[in-house]
Amino acid sequence: MGDLDHTHDARIQTWVASATPGCDFPLQNLPLGIFRPAHDASAPWRVGTAIGAHVLDLGGCAEDGLLDDADPAALHALDADTLNGLMALPGTTVTSLRHAVHALLRADTGHRRATERRLHAMEAVTLRLPVRIGNYTDFYASLHHATNTGRLLRPDSPLMANYPWLPVAYHGRPSSVVVSGTPVRRPWGQQRTSSGVPELRPSGKLDLELEVGLFVGAGNPLGEPIPIAEAADHLFGCCLLNDWSARDIQAWEYQPLGPFLGKNFATTISPWVVTRQALLPFRTAPAPREPGLPAPLPYLSDVREATTGAFDIHLEWQLRTTRMREGGDAAVTVARTNLGSLLWTPAQLIAHHTVNGCNLEPGDLLGSGTVSGPDATACGSMLELTKGGREPWTLPNGETRGFLEDGDEVVLRGRCSAPGAASIGFGECHGRISPAR
Ligand code: CA
Repeated sequence: MGDLDHTHDARIQTWVASATPGCDFPLQNLPLGIFRPAHDASAPWRVGTAIGAHVLDLGGCAEDGLLDDADPAALHALDADTLNGLMALPGTTVTSLRHAVHALLRADTGHRRATERRLHAMEAVTLRLPVRIGNYTDFYASLHHATNTGRLLRPDSPLMANYPWLPVAYHGRPSSVVVSGTPVRRPWGQQRTSSGVPELRPSGKLDLELEVGLFVGAGNPLGEPIPIAEAADHLFGCCLLNDWSARDIQAWEYQPLGPFLGKNFATTISPWVVTRQALLPFRTAPAPREPGLPAPLPYLSDVREATTGAFDIHLEWQLRTTRMREGGDAAVTVARTNLGSLLWTPAQLIAHHTVNGCNLEPGDLLGSGTVSGPDATACGSMLELTKGGREPWTLPNGETRGFLEDGDEVVLRGRCSAPGAASIGFGECHGRISPAR
């Protein structure tokens, strides 16, 4: 997984003035993304890192010879318009690039004059999907989410028998994963009616799911499982993920094979991939298993996972309606939760995904599943917050919501803090609902 080093030192500052204390992208973060100047649609897409309110063109820095201290394989992978090449490299190679970028940007010994010409204002660039996502799997790893939603259907026994034993998941669809800011069109779908004859109509129960996206780094050959003790090294980094869900379409179609058209019309991710190197200071013990839950089987058990396998990532989601936007009101925070509350760690998800020999590939996207806490202040979906729409949520301006309405904008945010560490953020993952076709 790697060790803490000088790139995590909160005392080292950058010469980039927009990287102010408390910003999402201080020198200790250095997330990776793909950008090009917004004014030039013919410009090539480049690998960049976010620093304060700026983007540093890493491909350009490599061309200028500014990153020659990094492993040559990392420099080769910067000559690309996706992060897949970087993701396939060993962790030590990615760390060498982090060190080289950190050296350019630090205030005391950095190379300001040579580097500044490769710096772009964040507001002057376009960001796109950072990764060519070959495969997308969405897990269901929050015990509280599974309990909250299961209780709506089965009040007396919300959890299925398999739930405490294995990370439940389904295979999602990569083609409709979109970058933050992409409009989300309300989907049509077949829905149950009281007459017994279903109708095709626009979803009336459009929802969000607050999740973290986990990007796979190095993959595994088909037929060769990744042991739990090595699984953490196969995580490249994380982003925010909104698994938009049409509950009425989902409710009618999901049995017996699981989610399909109620999910695959759109999944939004944030544009910056926060690397596992940046997340090292925020590793933590997983939440204790609740009394009565069995210990994981041996292939999912590991001392390191039990002590530092989880990530302490504070998550929240915000809502802004059309009326709020027109009135100049800021988005309101609806719920706050934490990734560390999951029943399974990212490494356990990876070990389970490959235990049958399934091959993961660099750039594969794994959704954590909706991250929820036990009460209404920590619900990662409206389904839970409003009890399936039966108890609408009231906004500060008096509007109410059972589910999302056209024009509603959902914003996900994530932030890590730990004693002695510089706090880092994930930026935004947002999307606005547009009317059905
Ligand atoms: Ca989900």
